[in-house]
Amino acid sequence: MDKKTISRRHLLQTLPLGIVGLACNRSEADQKQEARSEEKFTWIASTTWSPHFPILGEGMDLFAEQVKIMSGGRLTIKVYGAGEIVPAFELFDAVSQGAIQIGHGASYYWAGKIPSAGFFCSTPFGLNAQQMNAWLIAGGGMALWEEIYAKYNIIPFACGNTGVQMGGWFRKEINSVADLQGLKMRMPGLGGKIISRAGASATQIVGGEIYTSLERGVIDGAEWIGPYHDYKMGFYQVAKYYYYPGWHETGSTLEMMINKTAFEKLPPDLREMVISAAARANAWMLAEFEAKNNFYLKKLVQEENVQLRKFPEDVLQTLKKATEEVIGEMIAADPISKKVYAHQTAFKKEILQWSEVSEKAILPYL
Ligand code: CA
Repeated sequence: MDKKTISRRHLLQTLPLGIVGLACNRSEADQKQEARSEEKFTWIASTTWSPHFPILGEGMDLFAEQVKIMSGGRLTIKVYGAGEIVPAFELFDAVSQGAIQIGHGASYYWAGKIPSAGFFCSTPFGLNAQQMNAWLIAGGGMALWEEIYAKYNIIPFACGNTGVQMGGWFRKEINSVADLQGLKMRMPGLGGKIISRAGASATQIVGGEIYTSLERGVIDGAEWIGPYHDYKMGFYQVAKYYYYPGWHETGSTLEMMINKTAFEKLPPDLREMVISAAARANAWMLAEFEAKNNFYLKKLVQEENVQLRKFPEDVLQTLKKATEEVIGEMIAADPISKKVYAHQTAFKKEILQWSEVSEKAILPYL
């Protein structure tokens, strides 16, 4: 018995059992890793945003770059903007069918196909970004989302959040609910249905057409995202009143959809890299929004003379009541929506109680 054997035996005798087990597993994993290390994958990602769109598209570019570096070039992801290879609203089907491997967008775009999908992006008067992350990652929301998308061969990931959005741009002041009557407003999704219930007339207009529609008076108001993106779109040139808060999008989670078959073909280490880079993008995008929005809000107000207004109380209360009615009808018609909404609402009740003694209690003193 040479010295090397003795020392190894001594080491094994003195190590706790768990660590010995771990050492053996690592060696097996390392062997598998060596066998797979030459396998290369090239994936296509498409988004519902224009190419390299600020924060959201940039976040996807970073995601692809990080995966490439982490994998040593074993997984290359080419990122395309909306319409370059897949039209924005066909993204879900493209990922589901495996025409491409990754899609980045917002789950409420698929509400026509899956009514419950919107709850994983944003519920009007719902959770904020921090609470959405808590619900999805640690509160059981992710499991529901995965279960729903599994039928479509898609694995969803939370991948970015806009934070609380702005209420929108208006060509005239909104002084009471009476000013909502007949108001033509660009507001997609559930928010649009709700504001219509309150008397307005919601239309769906793609981002690139909002400016001209406002300028020509085709619409009286439009919501987009928040100060940073809205500034870049130049809406302040065609509408002077900028309202808050974004009651309809209180913390919109962006989604990354990955084709399940493609994901399962990856070796375990590459899968972990994709999961880690998506989690990093999730945090990075929200951080970017939070860091940039107030800087651009000040520019809008100070340099562009934008009139910043809070929605009057009766407007917010009316919209809240309309939200309860519209969601009530929606969940009555779709058992899966009912299940997801009940789960999210139960979580919201808990986290709002906690917020009373945490966030809400400390904010006035910060
Ligand atoms: Ca929006």
